Amino acid sequence: MEVIPFNDISYERFLGEEKLMGSRCRKCGTLFLPPRAICIKCHSTKMEWVEMKGKGKLAAFTCIAIGPPFMTREGYDRKHPYVSGVVELDEGVKVVARIEGVNGSRPETIKIGTPLHVQFLHRGEGGNSTTFLAFRPL
Ligand SMILES: [Zn+2]
Repeated sequence: MEVIPFNDISYERFLGEEKLMGSRCRKCGTLFLPPRAICIKCHSTKMEWVEMKGKGKLAAFTCIAIGPPFMTREGYDRKHPYVSGVVELDEGVKVVARIEGVNGSRPETIKIGTPLHVQFLHRGEGGNSTTFLAFRPL
């Protein structure tokens, strides 16, 4: 079996394949997302890949009006803020992701605890393509 290193490169490659993969310590069972090669709890290096189901709920969020250039190119600005959030997955880990399908101009309409499911946003072409992790309401 091919050994896939537990790092960001592997994580992003999995995202490109529309898989949300974390690492789980074989010794104490702690789950890491993005994956870690070494367990921060028991310092074990015995890790295994685990695919997340991609369901969770909104734990926290912020609306961003002034974003990085690639977000500006997607049409987000002061009048159209995008939403970045912390999603608590059913597996118990929290991950930072873009929140789609909500109105960043009206944060009062966005509720903590909203059930979300994963969405993979592919941007760019060929070797320059990147996949962003996002979630949207069910
Ligand atoms: Zn451990």
